[in-house]
Amino acid sequence: MSLPICDICAKTGVMCNACDAKLRNNEISDLDIEISKIIYNMGNGEFSFDRSFDMGDFIVLITQKREVGKIIGKNATNLRELSSKLGKKVRIIGTGNLEDVVYDFVAPAQILGINTVFKTDGSTSRRVIINKKDENKLKIGVGTIEELISSFADDRVEISFG
Ligand SMILES: [Zn+2]
Repeated sequence: MSLPICDICAKTGVMCNACDAKLRNNEISDLDIEISKIIYNMGNGEFSFDRSFDMGDFIVLITQKREVGKIIGKNATNLRELSSKLGKKVRIIGTGNLEDVVYDFVAPAQILGINTVFKTDGSTSRRVIINKKDENKLKIGVGTIEELISSFADDRVEISFG
């Protein structure tokens, strides 16, 4: 089980030096810390997640696939509690399915396809093609989306319009 901050910090709400350094280095955000505390209490230390992102209208929570159901909870009671505590709708996304993750970051823009791009240096990246006429529907900049998704996805992600 893991959270962006250590269990002791999540439990006590007081940041240790290591977690405080992560915050100062922008490896984690204030939102990650806030959610860690809520999630820790909610699951008695049994729930985990990787990162959270404030999308304006809603919050995206990235976690391991097997954690998604637990965090949502029976009849979505946990999810509702989380949303009410944060004052925003929360979407829980399991890593592994890049398409789902990308969908939430670009919605309501339409994804035309996701291709693997083979670079000359031998590495690969994933190219997400978004319907060109939806370009102005993106709530956050292309560069920010690429950076956010690449920060937790296995592959680098680049966005293009088609
Ligand atoms: Zn800590």
